Amino acid sequence: MRLTKSTDIALRIAMRLAVLDEDQTPTTREVAEAVGVPYNHAAKVVSRLQHLGIVEARRGRGGGLALTAAGRTGSLGRIVRELEGVGDVVGCEDEPPCPLRHSCRLRGALRRAQEAFYASLDPLTVDDLVSGEGDGGGDAGPVLLGLPVVPVASAVSDTSPASAASPASALPDTGAVPSGPPGPGPFGPSA
Ligand code: SF4
Repeated sequence: MRLTKSTDIALRIAMRLAVLDEDQTPTTREVAEAVGVPYNHAAKVVSRLQHLGIVEARRGRGGGLALTAAGRTGSLGRIVRELEGVGDVVGCEDEPPCPLRHSCRLRGALRRAQEAFYASLDPLTVDDLVSGEGDGGGDAGPVLLGLPVVPVASAVSDTSPASAASPASALPDTGAVPSGPPGPGPFGPSA
């Protein structure tokens, strides 16, 4: 099973933000460069992460992107489910639809395999991925910390065309609508 590119980018961004100090709030452009993805892709993904309540955009001088508490400690399986959406692993209902789709055992087996895949991620969190406490033997934390340093108050120094053209030029170049509290998504604060 292969995740979408958007999910991959989202998890890279989340891991990058997870290792930064509280006063390190990078712009979307800085995060995109740090994790090696195009800015435009990163901007779309950041917007989605904000909507889900996983990332927040802080305003003002020194503002920028930060991982929310829910994004840091929420179930990785749930995050990936939200990012991937529901649907078959293969295109049973594509156009033209598969003629076997109403009586196919393979379809059910693939759905169960897909759910098993997500379930294996359920016990993990983004924090686990960067602290070396998850399984898999690797520890991306040192690598993530070794990526280009994000300057404090980086939004002030960002002279990218995207941020310069923004009418809200005092806001960070997040590529998404800045928000105060986490978004209304499933990872936002519970009522
Ligand atoms: S053979 Fe089964 S799993 Fe494959 S596309 Fe057709 S219905 Fe879906």
